[in-house]
Amino acid sequence: MNIEQLYSLYTENYKVDTDTRKIRKGSLFFALKGENFNGNKFVNEALKNGARYVIIDEEKYQKSQNTILVKNVLITLQNLANFHRKQLNIPIISLTGSNGKTTTKELVKAVLSKKYKTIATEGNLNNHIGVPLTLLSMLPNTDIGIVEMGANHLNEIDFLCQIAQPNFGYITNFGKAHLEGFGSVEGVIKGKSELYNFIKKTQGFAFVNKDDEIQMKQSIGVNSIYFDKNLIKYVESNPFVKTQFKNTEIKSNLIGKYNYPNIAAAIAIGDYFNVSKTNIKSAIENYTPTNNRSQIIEKGIHTVILDAYNANPTSMFAALENFNQLNGSHKIVFLGDMFELGKDSKIEHQKIADLLTKYNFSKVYLIGKEFATTKVKNILVYTTFEAFKTSTKNLKFNSPATILIKGSRRMELERILELL
Ligand code: ATP
Ligand code: MG
Repeated sequence: MNIEQLYSLYTENYKVDTDTRKIRKGSLFFALKGENFNGNKFVNEALKNGARYVIIDEEKYQKSQNTILVKNVLITLQNLANFHRKQLNIPIISLTGSNGKTTTKELVKAVLSKKYKTIATEGNLNNHIGVPLTLLSMLPNTDIGIVEMGANHLNEIDFLCQIAQPNFGYITNFGKAHLEGFGSVEGVIKGKSELYNFIKKTQGFAFVNKDDEIQMKQSIGVNSIYFDKNLIKYVESNPFVKTQFKNTEIKSNLIGKYNYPNIAAAIAIGDYFNVSKTNIKSAIENYTPTNNRSQIIEKGIHTVILDAYNANPTSMFAALENFNQLNGSHKIVFLGDMFELGKDSKIEHQKIADLLTKYNFSKVYLIGKEFATTKVKNILVYTTFEAFKTSTKNLKFNSPATILIKGSRRMELERILELL
């Protein structure tokens, strides 16, 4: 079956699924393979649960005329997404960067949805499977698409751009994340800039924050739409970030000064696509973060900043700096290890430990194997979450505290909430 034939099956329903537990009736099911599973084995289940066709790549699972055998299911999914993208004659905005992709994506989506039928990446589906699925979730009546692209090694962003063919791009920032795969910060900059290079080759447009030196340098020679602190003023983050755009104050529900560039980008993109100032304001003011990303939670007498979604050196520095400038005299910090830092891991954890000694927090807890090897004074250190839990039986602080919780996803530090 060639791609045109497969495409005509897809356009019967415009539904694509990859998880037999979440099949929508009439969908095209792609039997992907992972490290621990083989989708081919679920042909029967997929058909039983309502899939119209199942795409497989192992002949022995061929069941009925509704199973379609291809050479490689993943490549077929990517090719189909690319084919679909080419039929969609719409602007597609790609977002990448080390931190803030999902937050920026959600803000841009909220803003553009005020005026356009907008489809954006669901959650964090930003890789070689998520990007094709995002594209295939766009419909003939979609006006604008927003695609989050994640990467942990070189050439990944270029590969995702080849599939999604974005005509607009924005790189949220270049930070110390996934150093293991990129080798160094220079590697990160090179890897993220693959988006600019693609945009340059294809005569698209980049949104560029003039106040970000690396963005300015990396986007030389790319058609750019600029914004800066004169266009979108930073007012304060106490604790929520407030900005001002064309004499209108916009009060977000996002904490941390590090969210200012994310908000500014969403305003600039909305403005470029002619969303009115009033609509931009209401979209941003109505957006509340979820999934442990910079959330503020009232827990008994305490105020908790829950940022347990993820961590890397750049976001850790930003979070601590922000936490330090917040009001409150009784401040407690819980930090978990930052993963995927490769050979820089020890140094980067030590830098955070050193930074902590400069701040005057009431109490600091460091949790994880890497933090446990740092040299620290007056800071409580635990090798594992279990060790932390057993030795700190009493986390019931008596006086109201402002608490920061942050660590890499797999540390699952949101578990601390139950202990407070
Ligand atoms: P992922 O790589 O997991 O997809 P992401 O780039 O989508 O991450 P978000 O989920 O938006 O990023 O934010 C994750 C965390 O990164 C936030 O909770 C916050 O701590 C931090 N962060 C967000 N924006 C910035 C920024 N502009 N600079 C530094 N840190 C940021
Ligand atoms: Mg994300």
